[in-house]
Amino acid sequence: MNWTKREQELKFKLPMLVAGIAVTMVACSGEEATTEVAEQAAATSVENAVDQITEEYIREVMIEISADDYEGRGPATAGDIKTRKFLIEQMTEIGLEPGMPDGSWEQPFEMVSVNTLPPEGWKFEGHGKSMTFDFYDDFMINGDNQQSQPSVENAEVVFAGYGIQAPEFGWDDYKNIDVTGKVVLLMNNDPDWDDDLFAGETRLWYGRWDYKFLTAAKNGAAGVIIIHTIPSAGYPYQVLQTSNIGPQMELPVGDEARAQFTSFMTEDAVRELVSMAGKDLDELYEAAYNADFQAVPLGVTTSIALDVEVDSVTTANVLGVLPGSDPELKDEYVIYTAHHDHLGIGPANDEGDTIYNGAMDNASGVGQILAMAKAFVALPEAPRRSIMFLFVGAEEQGLLGSKWYAANPTVSPGKIAANLNYDGGNLHGPTNDIVYIGFGKTSIDELVIEYAAEQGRVVKPDQFADRGYFYRSDQFSFAKIGVPAVYLEPGTDFVDRPPEWGRQVVENFTNNHYHQPSDEYDPNWNLSGMIDDAQIGFWTGLAVANADEMPTWNEGDEFEAVRLEALAAEED
Ligand SMILES: [Zn+2]
Repeated sequence: MNWTKREQELKFKLPMLVAGIAVTMVACSGEEATTEVAEQAAATSVENAVDQITEEYIREVMIEISADDYEGRGPATAGDIKTRKFLIEQMTEIGLEPGMPDGSWEQPFEMVSVNTLPPEGWKFEGHGKSMTFDFYDDFMINGDNQQSQPSVENAEVVFAGYGIQAPEFGWDDYKNIDVTGKVVLLMNNDPDWDDDLFAGETRLWYGRWDYKFLTAAKNGAAGVIIIHTIPSAGYPYQVLQTSNIGPQMELPVGDEARAQFTSFMTEDAVRELVSMAGKDLDELYEAAYNADFQAVPLGVTTSIALDVEVDSVTTANVLGVLPGSDPELKDEYVIYTAHHDHLGIGPANDEGDTIYNGAMDNASGVGQILAMAKAFVALPEAPRRSIMFLFVGAEEQGLLGSKWYAANPTVSPGKIAANLNYDGGNLHGPTNDIVYIGFGKTSIDELVIEYAAEQGRVVKPDQFADRGYFYRSDQFSFAKIGVPAVYLEPGTDFVDRPPEWGRQVVENFTNNHYHQPSDEYDPNWNLSGMIDDAQIGFWTGLAVANADEMPTWNEGDEFEAVRLEALAAEED
């Protein structure tokens, strides 16, 4: 970074960044010269504060919580407890206050642990034939209703296309068919060939399997099979194998509709299954690429009974707060999030390693948020609004910690100015860009653009919009309660590297290490780009915390209405 340039920039943006200090000085002295001196002093101290975001400290955090003795930080394990203890120690040392209204650091929540024992095989019959598929190689399956013996008997299999009901796009894959008690066979993703339909290649909530499971259950389906393909999922089948074995955690189901089971099947297996019905899978796909599509009963039935161990377990979100300095605004919050959990202990990889260390995912995010906390505490004066550092649990189990927080917020949603989420940092050096998941949705865009520009970088929207990342990390839970939410991700245009290098590095990590035991700390990782990204998050959060008004969703955004409601609720 160019120091002189930085100083100039700081002077330029001082009025906004350290508004509180500058105004106080003017009031005290009334002399411009004194104000300027004060501004320069403040600039130096703000710069000193941001210098607290160091590679050394982030490495320390990553090494610590991705070590084998944290056992991969699986929720409700000894490793989980150890991680939470570490976070509390760090936040205490940094000088934060406990984030819970009762003065504690943890927001515990109950989860239902559902451990579906691998069935021997899965048999389908029809058209005078029968076919049995192998667990693990051909399919992964989970009990869906939090009961110990979910089952279906002679349930008909129906190919229901994408399994989407979206009146705003004139789309209903469940029209003119009753799937009650049946097993629906579904394609992943949402229609992606037309920009006016389901946002083209950008994956919406409709394209996510959790939406498909819920919608199938609402329509009465007893079971769901999602056809796995790499393009439609965005990751290889291996990721489903490792993340769907052993206990799966969920929030208690309440009165939500649930199927007996949900499953994923390889495309090769599904090809055989539909051929038993005399159908060609590609022809079924072709038919489903159309709003006029009519679901196709395959004339195939299946029976399966699962043994499921159902248990109640507890984990916790861990939260600390830096109280704001403005008496009017301190009850409003900027909330930084990073999930502290990972997958725990699971199936061995080729090297016999069973610990899913989660160094990138998400020890790197935890390290960045803790480093930002240090920077905020080091400011000459706390920001006007309060800052919360929220480490959520059980993200890998379906954003459970952030969902729980959003349903039981310690600050009412209309008082949460923004959420900035970090999940997976840059390990490969400085980039010319930063990726902003959720770009184009809120007024926070202009801040991120400004601070990226100060680093000589550009902001890019999601580079893999077809994968629906906005709906796959914790900021989504905040967006759903109306909070303007930002998820900053590593850039892919690396300094002094050919243009395709970054994308290849990301693809390589996704295919070989993402959610694998090999996501382990590597001393060769270059964290300089991660520091840049964390600094942008720091400056952005600081500006939001000091601004007169809270950020807003762009007009017409999918989350604008719920925000306006939340703000109106504060006026009552
Ligand atoms: Zn993650």
